[in-house]
Amino acid sequence: MHVLWHISDLNENSHTNRDDIMRYAYDARTDVRLAAAASATFGVVPTEPTEQLRVAHLDADAFYVSVELLRRPELRGLPVVVAGSGPRAVVTTASYEARRFGVFSAMPAARARRLCPQAVFLPPDFAVYREHSARMMGIVRRHVERVESIGLDEAYLDLEGFHSPRAAMRRIVAEIRSETGLVCSVGIGPNKLVAKVASDAEKPAGFVVLTREHACERFAHASPGLVPGIGPKTAAKLADMGLTTLRALALASERELMERFGSNHGRDLVRRARFESDGAVSQERKVVSESRERTFDYDVAETATLEAELESMSEKLCASLAAHRRAGRTIAIKVRLDDFSTVTRARTIEAPTCDARVVGAVALALLREYAPPRPVRLLGVRVAGLVAEGADSAEAQAAQMALPL
Ligand SMILES: [Mg+2]
Repeated sequence: MHVLWHISDLNENSHTNRDDIMRYAYDARTDVRLAAAASATFGVVPTEPTEQLRVAHLDADAFYVSVELLRRPELRGLPVVVAGSGPRAVVTTASYEARRFGVFSAMPAARARRLCPQAVFLPPDFAVYREHSARMMGIVRRHVERVESIGLDEAYLDLEGFHSPRAAMRRIVAEIRSETGLVCSVGIGPNKLVAKVASDAEKPAGFVVLTREHACERFAHASPGLVPGIGPKTAAKLADMGLTTLRALALASERELMERFGSNHGRDLVRRARFESDGAVSQERKVVSESRERTFDYDVAETATLEAELESMSEKLCASLAAHRRAGRTIAIKVRLDDFSTVTRARTIEAPTCDARVVGAVALALLREYAPPRPVRLLGVRVAGLVAEGADSAEAQAAQMALPL
């Protein structure tokens, strides 16, 4: 069955060469072996192979850095880091050359500079990243109807009904590469969990196809934190229970986990460790809110400074909402104090808006009502409950009317 599946896949792929044939033959052998091993280990009954390639996860490699290199090709091959410049800035993306020095996303930029002083540091330019993201997603949508984009550079693709999911994904990454210059990694599997972990497994330019049984076997010794939905805190608690690998978690006593984590979360953890379904690819674009926030270089106590910042962020936020023809009814602020306590305050207004005067006024009122009791470290403004032009709800039509055209 597995062998037939691979060979039929092979026939559909007109670009196949000798190496591909050898690799497919190898895949076919390991499939059978791994499926048998997995079923022995986990007691799972392998599902029909054709059912196992339903979802792809597509992820642009080192996205921000890659976009920067497209317009500064002279930096290719050098350690390049995209990061803000203030004392509290963090690394948003590091090139693979910089990663060799131990520089990774979310690390304080100051630490990155110490680890790799010769790196070229560039400030983020989100307008350009959004442009490239739109081109990339546009190519994806030419081929796949149901696409769930996650941030600027990642998406889940529903491959149900595709004759050859592999060939389709090879085509999509080739088109993205030739039309935008961006390199993507792909994971294909029976569900979002497997697809996501597969796309991460061989970056950059990875192309990893895994059945659920493959995934269980390949990542048996990885930390539970590898799987989306198991965060560092949960992973630490699991380690306290002696559950340091996915295999251990997959085989753990559900009862014990339910006692420790509650019944839903406990059961969910075991399911995730077995790479069992993580929901369908959702067709709706999940933009339900948009926000702007800023971490100050130094904590700010002056009301006037906070208010000016809030107004300027409201303007930028509303310009972006208007550009995407979106509007929302719920306006919120977020305030993080110097002791890291964080509060949000929200108000819902009558009609959806993307008017900076309206958003700014509500945000200011919320800030004045809260009156931060300590210096402020971070300030943010959000518009939620977004509705877009083209959506066919009554609410969306109201939004359209309220949009300045
Ligand atoms: Mg990425």
